[in-house]
Amino acid sequence: MREIVVEAQNIWKSYTAGAVTVDAVKNLSFALYKGELIVVLGPSGSGKSTFLNILGTLDRPTSGSVYFNKLNISQESDEQLSALRRRHIGFVFQFYNLIPTLTALENVEMIAAHSASPMPVEDALKRVNLWERRHHFPSELSGGEQQRVAIARAIVKKPELLLCDEPTGALDVATGVIVLQALEEVHHDFSISVMLITHNATIAHLADRVIRMSGGQILSIERNERHMLARDLSW
Ligand code: ADP
Repeated sequence: MREIVVEAQNIWKSYTAGAVTVDAVKNLSFALYKGELIVVLGPSGSGKSTFLNILGTLDRPTSGSVYFNKLNISQESDEQLSALRRRHIGFVFQFYNLIPTLTALENVEMIAAHSASPMPVEDALKRVNLWERRHHFPSELSGGEQQRVAIARAIVKKPELLLCDEPTGALDVATGVIVLQALEEVHHDFSISVMLITHNATIAHLADRVIRMSGGQILSIERNERHMLARDLSW
């Protein structure tokens, strides 16, 4: 039996503002296995980010349960969830979210300093080919380079789960492919489970399984038959 890293059971997330309630995700159930690469496709507003944020404990479902390594974390305190994230979960966002006043090295060091057993910061930056640029500030790096620093920052803690929300959404194709190659490598080399959100169907060729979402629901989950390498993708 393959090991499940994170599992959602019947999760709903509703937002209420005045008289209006939006159900961002509706009754989602899903299990992500160790070492899997999942791509989540769907139009804007279909609930992808809400789903990812709930799996990553950045957000709580209105109802339903989330299990991390078989432990039901639905009732954990904010402090416990934050400790779990620090230890086990890496995030990569569309707009990098680096700290502008810190160099590439310092951005990664800051996360390493708060991790239980990080890899050497040098290894994380070398892994994304940015060791030579380590003393540069985010404003001195291109978008693709900043995203690679964000990947180094996400992997330095040696997470079990890497959650990526539109990691290539702000990048041109060539740069996007380089970022995907970096993600592909860390996924492969460290057996990290990866969930990657995109509205770009081409990127789904990287996945082991592809989830399609619409209107807060999972339309389909398919095993990917046309597995491709990032370097062969183009859009
Ligand atoms: P996607 O990532 O697919 O674009 P989201 O998960 O961001 O979709 O959003 C799903 C739905 O939930 C959208 O209708 C969005 O407007 C709504 N939504 C998301 N976050 C909030 C929030 N904090 N407050 C109110 N509505 C929200």
